[in-house]
Amino acid sequence: MAEKLLEIKDLHVVYKTDEGCVYAVNGLNLTVNKGQVLGLVGETGAGKTTTALSILRLLPDRIGEIVQGEILLDGTDIIHCKDAELRLIRGNKVSMIFQDPMTSLNPILTVGDQIAEVLELHNPDMNHEEIQARVDDMLSLVGIVPERKNDYPHQFSGGMKQRVVIAIALACTPELLLADEPTTALDVTIQDQVLQMMRELKEKLNTAMILITHDLGVVANNCDSVAIMYAGEIIEQGTVEDVFEGAYHHPYTVGLFNSIPDLSKKTRRLSPIDGLMPDPSNLPSGCAFHDRCPRCMEKCVSQKPQPFVQDTHMVRCHLYQGDGEEMAR
Ligand code: SF4
Repeated sequence: MAEKLLEIKDLHVVYKTDEGCVYAVNGLNLTVNKGQVLGLVGETGAGKTTTALSILRLLPDRIGEIVQGEILLDGTDIIHCKDAELRLIRGNKVSMIFQDPMTSLNPILTVGDQIAEVLELHNPDMNHEEIQARVDDMLSLVGIVPERKNDYPHQFSGGMKQRVVIAIALACTPELLLADEPTTALDVTIQDQVLQMMRELKEKLNTAMILITHDLGVVANNCDSVAIMYAGEIIEQGTVEDVFEGAYHHPYTVGLFNSIPDLSKKTRRLSPIDGLMPDPSNLPSGCAFHDRCPRCMEKCVSQKPQPFVQDTHMVRCHLYQGDGEEMAR
């Protein structure tokens, strides 16, 4: 049986701003097993990055706050662990690849020094030679010749910078990698190379990964399971087969698939999901998707749908509950 690595239970995160409270994550439940790749999919503002930052307790100081829930990493309670304990986890057990490699690297340090920095912090027993040998190994692993370790970030292309960021994230062989849209800032040809490299590294190191993306194609090629996020909640979750080929889906997931251009059909317009993601400081009652949902029913406006679960597949929608339309069919 698969061993659980990360378990998030009923997570609620708010940002307290001068304009009011922003409800970014609202009762999120998620499990990642050892060595598993989970795709976390959703529109901008769905709460994907906030979820990742919460796992590392990197929410902005005095603004972001975990108000409820549990985050368990291999049994360790992340929310209540002390700062010293947290420093041992960050970069060591859990690493994060941020969206934009251009801003993730320090422009005044060589790339070799930036990889060495993480190793020195988490391996006080390693001497200089061992650290340098490991820096060389990490650069080779991501396809950069070790001779370039004394170069500065501005001497690398966008794709090469992202490889350096990945080398830093993997330097201490973390058990969990949080990859926040790791290829969004790269052009398409480089995107594919970086994703392929991440797949190979995952095979070699058996690192579990949460791959945050809005690209369902990236999910299909790289993930074992998928969680679709909307307005701070997981509204559908399952294996890649469940979500891509399953018999039932959340109307939002259906909308996401319909908005992918089909190159085999001649069409004048794409089919986007009407409307916008709700304002997280003023979330609607009932189902958060109700004002955009083509199948909205009366009770959707006032009652929050509960999860409907069949084996590995979960959908949070009234259509699949009790007297819901899909149940009556
Ligand atoms: Fe649509 Fe109702 Fe399902 Fe929400 S609960 S997705 S509004 S049918």
